[in-house]
Amino acid sequence: MKIAKVLLDLNATALDRLFDYVIPSQLVPKVQIGARVTVPFQNRPTIAYIWEIATHSEVAALKEIIEVIDDPPLLGMLQYQLVNWLAPYYSCSRTEVLKLCLPPGTNLSRQIIYRLSEPVDQLRKELLLNFPDLPVAALVEKILKLSCKGAVHREWRNEFREYLTIFKFLLQHNFLHKETRIAPPKVKTKTRTVFFWVAAENLKETAAAQRVKQVLLTKQHGLTRAELCTAAAVSPGVLTRLQKQGKIRGTAIPMERIPCGMEQAPVSRPIVFNREQQRVLEIIKTATDQKPFLLQGITGSGKTEIYFELAAATLKQGRQVLYLVPEIALTPQTLERARARFGKAVALLHSKMSDGERFDQWQRIKSGAAPFVLGARSALFAPFDNLGLIIVDEEHETTYKQEETPRYHVRKVVEKLAEFSHAKLVFGSATPAVETYYLAESGAYHLVKLEQRYNSQPLPEVTIVDLRQELKRKNKNILSDLLYQEMQQTLDRQEQVILFLNRRGHSTFILCRDCGQSLQCPCCEVSLTYHSDENILRCHYCDYRQPVPNLCPNCQSNRIRYFGNGTQKLEAELKERFGGARIIRMDHDSTTTKGAHQQIYEELISGKVDILLGTQMIAKGLDLPKVTLVGVIAADQALNRPDFRAAERCFQLLIQVAGRAGRGTRPGRVIFQTYNPEHYAIQFAQKYDFDSFYRTEIAERRQAGYPPFSELVKFGFSGIKQTQVIAAAEAYAALIRQIQAELVRDFPRAGNELQLMGPAPAVIEKVQNLYRWQLLLKSSQPQLLERLVEESRQKFSYRKYPDVRIIRDRNPYSVL
Ligand code: ADP
Ligand code: ZN
Ligand code: ZN
Repeated sequence: MKIAKVLLDLNATALDRLFDYVIPSQLVPKVQIGARVTVPFQNRPTIAYIWEIATHSEVAALKEIIEVIDDPPLLGMLQYQLVNWLAPYYSCSRTEVLKLCLPPGTNLSRQIIYRLSEPVDQLRKELLLNFPDLPVAALVEKILKLSCKGAVHREWRNEFREYLTIFKFLLQHNFLHKETRIAPPKVKTKTRTVFFWVAAENLKETAAAQRVKQVLLTKQHGLTRAELCTAAAVSPGVLTRLQKQGKIRGTAIPMERIPCGMEQAPVSRPIVFNREQQRVLEIIKTATDQKPFLLQGITGSGKTEIYFELAAATLKQGRQVLYLVPEIALTPQTLERARARFGKAVALLHSKMSDGERFDQWQRIKSGAAPFVLGARSALFAPFDNLGLIIVDEEHETTYKQEETPRYHVRKVVEKLAEFSHAKLVFGSATPAVETYYLAESGAYHLVKLEQRYNSQPLPEVTIVDLRQELKRKNKNILSDLLYQEMQQTLDRQEQVILFLNRRGHSTFILCRDCGQSLQCPCCEVSLTYHSDENILRCHYCDYRQPVPNLCPNCQSNRIRYFGNGTQKLEAELKERFGGARIIRMDHDSTTTKGAHQQIYEELISGKVDILLGTQMIAKGLDLPKVTLVGVIAADQALNRPDFRAAERCFQLLIQVAGRAGRGTRPGRVIFQTYNPEHYAIQFAQKYDFDSFYRTEIAERRQAGYPPFSELVKFGFSGIKQTQVIAAAEAYAALIRQIQAELVRDFPRAGNELQLMGPAPAVIEKVQNLYRWQLLLKSSQPQLLERLVEESRQKFSYRKYPDVRIIRDRNPYSVL
């Protein structure tokens, strides 16, 4: 007897284990690891995944697998390995990870259908008896139709809208039999119908038919209805007639949905590697160990060309390439360059694409048609089976951390992915994450560097403007005098300016001068931001909106003032001070429509815009040769977060933004405005001195015991009732202490090595009406940590706190 051990597709911690089923002999050939099947569970067909195959089971009276859904399985061996490793590492269930590996839109769900369970004659008789006034014959007809079709509850109700009593009658008297079945997936392969000429060729035809015949006989792949009408100059009616006569025939053929940016193929340019690039390539290509590489190189040093060269070599060996970028929508140029180089081999995967588009790209990868996969973090889970190279571009970016379950970090997952598939792994950045650089420095990664820009252009010179001095001189504008002058000169030379301000909206808060009250969101404990374009106040956490009050709601004073600067206010100031300049704003609010990034980028490249201002969206990827001045409006802004990575984030952002200047032939200039010019992150960013920054930062981390010298796990508790949230957090803390005490018996060091902080309210305790509390667990012993977290996940009595949502976040990006 063959037994399958399956994972149920049900989301409950208690069900996150394997269940045994008998494999009926006729299904044996189809049952493979990773295949989706339906099994009876609690008397209903339930979707499950084959996870192991065995020859005996401890359980008596096993049930049989009902059917195999996917043959061959959608889940490959590599993805299977990934799921098995990732779930315990990030303390989530295997099905939560597994979902990410399946083609988008193919999730299956259960639905209830009804079928007629009595003979029709009986039905007719009963209806005539009970509802003599109703059109019984028509109703019986309808019931038969719905029953044959296997209509779901909603469809029955819809059809019997005017006769709900009848529908109820049918249910009450068991005329309808209830069945559960698996609903078909939402997304399928898209097709279009093309026509072929199928009648004998020597027959005499009307003039119109003659034209259709002539066109079709020259078209091997057929033509769609619309194409045919145009090409043969006939009306659709003619085609319908020919189809009825059996002279032309339509065939459905699969049609790929083309995502934005994949339409036309650009052309590639010749590449000549300089000495430094050749050396780096040589080192990476010839390495024989499995250690990942960290490629550190300033922007413009040619990292992307190196990645492409490595990719080309990998494709040539017949292996796949995974090329990860932080956020694809923000880097249209990378896609363009990849397609110029690799053409149809490129597949694209990111979250801004529709399910249908992603489904098609998934199929192209699975079939082997597209071995070069460019994507954002979720592309990790694409159906690779022969991965030879993984590139993580701008590896320090925060978007590489997933902020919903499974809360993985790309850096950790690609290490495993490379290990499982014996692929080369290259991380690249101008400003590596402190944690990555630490790994390189300590020998876990190879460190390779590119020190010059490819075109030998010097990096733009950075000037720091002390805003405190500016205030003393009574300059209350957003722009310092120096930045203003430089902008004017740049515009006079017909060059472009980028201004960076990482805060959208107009003013960040409004305050009553008399009672000191600031206007807060009623659902979140944060100030509302004024948006001048709609003249309203908005909450940046939950998007609550309200009109601007004329009087203070607290004391009725009319002395309401606006404080803080956002991109909209900056835009207004620019319009006032640079009358004729063409200005474009790029932030969350101005890029909500599909393709907005691409459009802004095209306007910039074509020179239609003089000044681009924006939030951190503009820090990445933009390669604009005419930009010669970059102004950072508030360089210390990123430092004001109560987070241990604040200085790192600030340093990285400044270098990245500065790198937008002087990418063409003309030299660039950069100005940092700040109230905090002495801070080491700003000082070292001015000199592009990563090494000094790293040494200062790593010393601070070591002293405070923060990562990379420890690992953190954040437990988040949220819910509508504050008392429940706090009680759950306290109960969880008690559970952790109890498990820790048990661990100490086996591992005496567990006492000191595991440090629990909290429970404490999150920095912003209330968001969208949910109270948020948290626990932080810190340890320098990852195995102990993992064990404790996993044990707590399994042992916690979730039932006692039904309204509290609990998340576990290993190595959270933010500890706020
Ligand atoms: P990075 O990724 O480090 O910012 P890029 O690879 O984008 O650098 O290179 C910067 C510019 O220099 C790009 O326009 C790129 O095409 C060009 N470039 C880099 N290396 C070469 C090369 N070997 N031959 C021709 N152009 C190159
Ligand atoms: Zn007031
Ligand atoms: Zn809010």
